[in-house]
Amino acid sequence: MPDPAAVPAAPPAFAWDEWYAAVGGRTIRIDEVTEILRRIHDEQYPRFDGPVAETARRFESPAAAAAEIKGAALALGADIAGICEIEASDVYRGRTVAEKYAVAVGQRMRWREFQVVPSRESAIECLRVYFTLGETVIALAAHIRGLGYACRVEHPIGDSDILHIPIGLKAGFGELGRHGSIIHPTLGPLFRMGSVITSMPLAIDAPIDAGIAKFCDTCRACRKYCPADAIPDERSAGHGVDHLGNPRYVVDTGRCFPYFATHSYCSICLPVCVYNHKEWARDFEGFQTKLFPEVRMPEPPPPADLPDDRRHPYPKVRRP
Ligand code: SF4
Ligand code: SF4
Repeated sequence: MPDPAAVPAAPPAFAWDEWYAAVGGRTIRIDEVTEILRRIHDEQYPRFDGPVAETARRFESPAAAAAEIKGAALALGADIAGICEIEASDVYRGRTVAEKYAVAVGQRMRWREFQVVPSRESAIECLRVYFTLGETVIALAAHIRGLGYACRVEHPIGDSDILHIPIGLKAGFGELGRHGSIIHPTLGPLFRMGSVITSMPLAIDAPIDAGIAKFCDTCRACRKYCPADAIPDERSAGHGVDHLGNPRYVVDTGRCFPYFATHSYCSICLPVCVYNHKEWARDFEGFQTKLFPEVRMPEPPPPADLPDDRRHPYPKVRRP
């Protein structure tokens, strides 16, 4: 069990506007991205809430209820679904979450859109999946309310109360990679997550150990290709532990964000991750794709960071 004193408090929510101000404003101008962001704000945000059925459906066990909910999530467009209990460390500093469980859902991004990174195509694909995932969590929340249980949408982007990465790890989505993203054993790291949170009695999933985090200890591909030198060489003591109880790899947000915010949401670390190169994680679908993306690495902008109390480090994972 990790020393609780060594585990830092939950970070504040990502202060998007402050971060953008720190790097000279929103300089990415891609019409399709702007339009998807508008649709998320105008069409999805107003559908986060809805009526709860007066009579709650009874399930024979929390496991039966969890199977129903995860089956519904997959039917509604999720590629992966899992459930975990929400801990205080999963909630952004200053936010309150009364719900007990998170139903986490993930959707894969298409490999073919990451053949060149950073690029207009990869930026649009990130936003495309944020939108479709938003539709899935909104529909799943409506389904849960239809069963008679209150719940709330935690959209993959926007003003979320919970940290998606520790939630996804506890829900069994994969392992925390050196690059700070979850690597799924079959989807690799090219997927995005959202959640629906509820106190409906549900059986929970468990973190997995598929040897991925251990593999990261010897592979440094993402670090080699990170243009901002933001991905660490070693694990960092004192910054929380991963799902297996090991000190985390801590990505330097102050280096990553200036590059991410000015170069089509960067994403280089995702397609260069060797876990994409498993045959089953690739996106053929009739398209000619390359084994390795074309990586564009212009000179990184100078590092920029927020004051400590506003800074959002990549999230930690706390386990009993
Ligand atoms: S998004 Fe880009 S800058 Fe940030 S860690 Fe990944 S490769 Fe580095
Ligand atoms: S590229 Fe290698 S070190 Fe980086 S996250 Fe993927 S497997 Fe781990």
